[in-house]
Amino acid sequence: MLSVICCDPHKPCRMLTVPFFSSAPMHAPLKAEMDAFWQQFYDSNWYVLGPEVEAFELAYAAFNQTQYCVGVANGLDALHISIKALGIGPGDEVIVPSNTYIASWLGATQLGAIPVPVESNPYTWNIDPQRIEAAITTRTKAIMPVHLYGQACEMGAIMELAQRHHLFVVEDNAQAHGSTWNGKLTGSFGHINGVSFYPTKNLGALGDAGAVTTNDPALAEFARTYRNYGSKQRYFNEMPGLNSRLDAVQAGILRIKLEHLAAWNQERSALAQQYFEHLAGIESIVLPKIGEDCGHVWHLFVILAERRSALQAHLQAQGIGTLIHYPLPPHLQQAYQGLGFQKGQFPIAEALAEKCLSLPLYPGMPIEHVALVAKSIRDFYLS
Ligand SMILES: *Cc1c(COP(=O)(O)O)cnc(C)c1O
Repeated sequence: MLSVICCDPHKPCRMLTVPFFSSAPMHAPLKAEMDAFWQQFYDSNWYVLGPEVEAFELAYAAFNQTQYCVGVANGLDALHISIKALGIGPGDEVIVPSNTYIASWLGATQLGAIPVPVESNPYTWNIDPQRIEAAITTRTKAIMPVHLYGQACEMGAIMELAQRHHLFVVEDNAQAHGSTWNGKLTGSFGHINGVSFYPTKNLGALGDAGAVTTNDPALAEFARTYRNYGSKQRYFNEMPGLNSRLDAVQAGILRIKLEHLAAWNQERSALAQQYFEHLAGIESIVLPKIGEDCGHVWHLFVILAERRSALQAHLQAQGIGTLIHYPLPPHLQQAYQGLGFQKGQFPIAEALAEKCLSLPLYPGMPIEHVALVAKSIRDFYLS
């Protein structure tokens, strides 16, 4: 049986029969192309910004069907730079999902803006457009939909609300490269949007990387300047900027990998379909549900499970790797104690955090592993 090293960078590596994630099957066929790129890159003597970054920015903008893409150092910076570009700062409110990774909130709080959480639709687990209006105040500046686990938010309703209330939209597209709402790509709805190329994302670099996407030339120019010390012309700085440039070596690697993203997303879809078939009818779990017109690229296959810790331990004992995205919602994190949220305030997010379990899924995962995982889950609830 295939045995690969699990690749959770936050934990020591363990040998698993069914790893949670591996980039090996994606990377193996690209080896020759990567080697050739590396040789050429090494000899080019151009390592920061320059032709590699520009070529990837053009390729990603074309893929994402946006006018502009600006490469930055990581996904969190992409959100920070997007929010900053909109002129949002201290005291402004940004509507965020209660159920998300903390980076979505940090993009706002790093600039002194106030995150205003809105609960998820209990079926799709993404921000519920019907609950957004009640959270809008005179200080609200933007809505940040997060396409969690690869599923597009209900963007029609969100864009309509934003227009009616004159609010900006900043999509957190870190988990959903290639996903669509009603045929239109995520990351192309908002005024300016952030994307991450962290190695485990659907499009992953070999290190940290991210980008901003937009159709607005002024916002793109701000991002381009702000990411590079606030400088357009070397040694002349028009604003106090960041050093948040996309590494040229990562840009080259991402350009090679981008060619395969559509095929990899299809493979993820096929694996998800297998999970649906093999996991059908188990009463103690809830399978993911897809909203109307909401595309899904299966960044993660997340179920809700009764007795989750025991199930996770059972799977681990069988050599099956799982992860929890995420065990504690942002409003209950120690980092946000100062915001004064209470336990029980966002019950949908809290219930999801208590029950969610992400099952192994990655392009190149042996299809029989899905059956193995499903059988182990079934056995657990039967015993
Ligand atoms: C990964 C991720 C980010 C941040 O990306 P980094 O590149 O790790 O900074 C932001 N939001 C969500 C939803 C993510 O999953």
